[in-house]
Amino acid sequence: MNEDSPEFTTSLLHADRRAGVEHGSIHKPIHTAVQFGFERTEDLIGVFQGTLKNAYSYGRQGTPTSAALEAKVTMLEQGIGSICFGTGMAALSAVFLTLLKAGDHVVSSRYVFGNTNSLFGTLGDLGIGVSKVDACAVDKVREALRPNTRMVFVETIANPGTQIPDLEAIGMLCRERGILYVVDNTITSPALFRPKSVGAGLVVNSLTKTIGGHGAALGGAVTDTGEFDWQAYPNISPSYRGMDPRQQGLQQIKKKGLRDMGASLSPEQAHRISLGSETLSLRVAQTSATALTLARYLQAHPAIGAVHYPMLENHPQHTMAKRLFKSGSWLFGFELRDSTRMVAVLDRLQLPIKATGLGDNRTLVIPVAPTIFWESGAAVRAEMGIADGLVRVSVGLESADALMADFERALG
Ligand SMILES: *Cc1c(COP(=O)(O)O)cnc(C)c1O
Repeated sequence: MNEDSPEFTTSLLHADRRAGVEHGSIHKPIHTAVQFGFERTEDLIGVFQGTLKNAYSYGRQGTPTSAALEAKVTMLEQGIGSICFGTGMAALSAVFLTLLKAGDHVVSSRYVFGNTNSLFGTLGDLGIGVSKVDACAVDKVREALRPNTRMVFVETIANPGTQIPDLEAIGMLCRERGILYVVDNTITSPALFRPKSVGAGLVVNSLTKTIGGHGAALGGAVTDTGEFDWQAYPNISPSYRGMDPRQQGLQQIKKKGLRDMGASLSPEQAHRISLGSETLSLRVAQTSATALTLARYLQAHPAIGAVHYPMLENHPQHTMAKRLFKSGSWLFGFELRDSTRMVAVLDRLQLPIKATGLGDNRTLVIPVAPTIFWESGAAVRAEMGIADGLVRVSVGLESADALMADFERALG
């Protein structure tokens, strides 16, 4: 299933039905039961011991509805398994908190989602060191590695600056050193890029964003691509060492992250995300095309100082983006020449919604420095290349013409 083949959507549309649903239902139903009962005590024992497959014990660890979504995410990422969580941040927390211990070290791109950056502060409090580097250069990642580095973490396209790490070279470096490579694929989504193709061991997606699309459900997922050798990972608990080496990592994330920490995805939300995902590749194709049109238009506008979008020729990682990504995604940033006009310009926009959030079917705009990067302070903003006049745009399904006319009016 190539990401630009029709199979991408075809497989999604028929996934539930092909897995077999009672009464010929074409969707996996919303199973709201918390308890799952068994006729035979032996089966109840089997579900606890992992010998009974495709069985459920207690809703916090998963339901048939969340499992159907996990199967879809696994299919989209071409992985060997996925675990869904209540939010993207819960998925990220589970990865870091279940696989790292005090004394361990992580190398992360310094261009990461603001809440992820804040979570790194918590890891620091727990004795887990995080070095933040400019991962657009693999040398910076290499220089930051230590003997206790367990993980390298990057996002495919950074929000809001659209920096792209040296994805392939970092993958090769991690493979060489036996380090777990974790890639947050939220902005690209598997419709545009599969981190497995550059050697990622784990892929994280916030399902809240473009995979759901409707902005009506929160969710997150961790996918094991099968690329990483868990046998060599020091922090796997003896409880999971006995199982198939390929399943050890995900099992630990599921048991410690989902069962013990409890940030479970509700069946209702799983169902909504599943429905939204059916149109993922169609929506991303459309929103990416509109984003490029709008980015080009703004780049040529005299009131605009800079536009950050991977498919613009002047983007620092344009060549790599063209090689690796099917298109540039729905995310771009622009800077007004006169940052004091920012609030007034945004107030004049009629279509884009002034709201935080990403990957919605509606276009969203937000001034970055005074909102999502306010708490991080001026020093972090400067380090991340966030100018005072930077506006983040998450392009929706409105027509490019309507959006351009609206920007023209607002900027005029
Ligand atoms: C939104 C986002 C997250 C967090 O996802 P939630 O579902 O909102 O918790 C993580 N990473 C990236 C890149 C995001 O854009």
